[in-house]
Amino acid sequence: MKAVVFEKFGEAPTIQTVPDPTPSPEGVVIKVEATGLCRSDWHGWMGHDDGIRLPHVPGHELAGVVVSTGSQVSRWKAGERVTVPFAVGCGRCFECTSGNHQVCEHQFQPGFSAWGSFAEYVAIDHADTNLVRLPDEMEFATAASLGCRFVTSFRAIVDQGRVTPGEWVAVHGCGGVGLSAIMIASAMGANVVAIDLTDEKLEFAKTIGAVATINAAKTPNVVKAVKQITNGGAHMSMDALGHPTTSFNSIANLRRRGRHVQVGLMLGEHARPQIPMDKVIAFELEIRGSHGMQAFRYQAMMEMIRTGKLKPELLVGKKISLEEAPAALMAMGGFEGIGIGVVTRFQISDPSLD
Ligand SMILES: [Zn+2]
Ligand SMILES: [Zn+2]
Repeated sequence: MKAVVFEKFGEAPTIQTVPDPTPSPEGVVIKVEATGLCRSDWHGWMGHDDGIRLPHVPGHELAGVVVSTGSQVSRWKAGERVTVPFAVGCGRCFECTSGNHQVCEHQFQPGFSAWGSFAEYVAIDHADTNLVRLPDEMEFATAASLGCRFVTSFRAIVDQGRVTPGEWVAVHGCGGVGLSAIMIASAMGANVVAIDLTDEKLEFAKTIGAVATINAAKTPNVVKAVKQITNGGAHMSMDALGHPTTSFNSIANLRRRGRHVQVGLMLGEHARPQIPMDKVIAFELEIRGSHGMQAFRYQAMMEMIRTGKLKPELLVGKKISLEEAPAALMAMGGFEGIGIGVVTRFQISDPSLD
């Protein structure tokens, strides 16, 4: 099969012909029909994730069709259209058996702990516990966009942030995670303030539910601005970007008893950011993380998609080919365009690669 491979961290990935994967006893092989481009892939390529062994194939936001199954797989067969959360739980450890597969102690992560989906085929372990069937009407590109950013935002807003109707929610950063969170929080009945550095993304945020926006590049004190708009501070706030400044602001702009959820990754030099701990104590603030979502929780999200309350297809941005993926991956360290970029074409046109 063809795959995007990198041999060294930080060096340009190339398209290579590599052996087709085979399923583990509990796993399946999926023919990839769409795979999202994510900042986590960029972090992996840069060497910020110590679980990656070289050479490596990135890609963890995937949707496709099952082509083969391991001997112990009972719930899936070839031909089924599926997606999978990026944190694949083993199904056996304490966290998995207590319903928290997203923090499994032995998690399998395509594109990190194993070769990922920037390829024609990908092997996924623990299929019975983790695969999610796609509704017939859902396009593969939309399904791929769910696997990481949308589900993490769903868990962040609904399960970790526990947003209720009428509350104020601040979302710092309007990339794929932030826009997903704005759409979900708005559908939950919250009033959402969107914060970003570009007017273009803030305008888009308004079209999917934000009732107020703050351009942080033009606002000297973002925390003060959020407190003014929300009449005293947000009830729940989220750092969707993953930066010391947005993380700090997201905690500092909360009202008393407010909840901060960190979703944007903090890796490398940003791994240990400053926290306004004085406020955390005095206001009894809550700080939580959100790390993907269990496969069984997809059902609630899928129903909100089916009934039109959530429209993840609006967040799908550029559709590109596998050949364009290496350049797009390397560019993820900078600022993204609007929405989630997805690889949807896997045919290779360069004859030298055959
Ligand atoms: Zn991702
Ligand atoms: Zn587990």
